Amino acid sequence: MLSIGVDIGGSTVRAALVENGQVVRTTRIALEQREVDAVAAVTAQQLSAIQAPPNAALGVAIAGMVRDNVVANAPNLGWRNADFAGALQRLVGRPVRLVNDLSAAAWGERCAGAAQGARNSVTVFVGTGVGSALIVDDRLVSGATGVAGEFGHIKLVADGGRPCGCGQQGCLEAYAGGANLIRWMGDEGLSGTPADLEREALAGHAGARQLHTFVGEALGLAIANVVTLLNPQVVVLGGGVLLRCPALVQHIRRVVGNRTASVAAEAVRVEIATLGDDSGLVGAALLAA
Ligand SMILES: [Zn+2]
Repeated sequence: MLSIGVDIGGSTVRAALVENGQVVRTTRIALEQREVDAVAAVTAQQLSAIQAPPNAALGVAIAGMVRDNVVANAPNLGWRNADFAGALQRLVGRPVRLVNDLSAAAWGERCAGAAQGARNSVTVFVGTGVGSALIVDDRLVSGATGVAGEFGHIKLVADGGRPCGCGQQGCLEAYAGGANLIRWMGDEGLSGTPADLEREALAGHAGARQLHTFVGEALGLAIANVVTLLNPQVVVLGGGVLLRCPALVQHIRRVVGNRTASVAAEAVRVEIATLGDDSGLVGAALLAA
């Protein structure tokens, strides 16, 4: 069955025609304006560009909190309580299913990627920020107010800690999220990206090694605790930082293996997202279908 997936990030819109979990045709365009109507207009143009069939279901993944098909909060776009689905629906004349980007990615990996066939999975992406989505008994967990799985804002310390974009301190994302990690590297006299940090750490630079070890332990321990709690078959790792830092992923694997309660540890495998950048597109299309 053909369906349409759209992925709206902070700076680009991608659209794809998806059939049986495979991307058939895809487009990408940079976002010049971030107003709701402008983004809806650009998205509608992309649907024409991929020659979307009139009766194909449409799913849209968005980096933000989605509640009742409304964008409750999308910090990258500056949207709060934005009825993007309504705006797009008026332009394209078909129902729009809106979903959080990590939920879409987790569902894409569940249907056509690294978590295929798993009824229980934990998907963790580390890029600019840190996000996760949980699938329990084959259902995406949303929670009482739609914000379950905010893995980046698990606290590492009881008081204080490094400042986080959420307004609190000591969050996992404040240390391990790409943007905050680069800031932290700067404070320690290190420059470059997380991939540079990994290279320096492997080359034996003591300061780089300390940060790299801390981030691997923090992510590994947090994931191990989630695995102990939920007993998933698969942990799917993705996002720009993890995809470019294989030694960090190795460290996470080790910590998850050593620090997960033993019965849950025997059941779980830790995999890299196999759909790469397409997991959100594919998942949004499949959720809509
Ligand atoms: Zn936070």
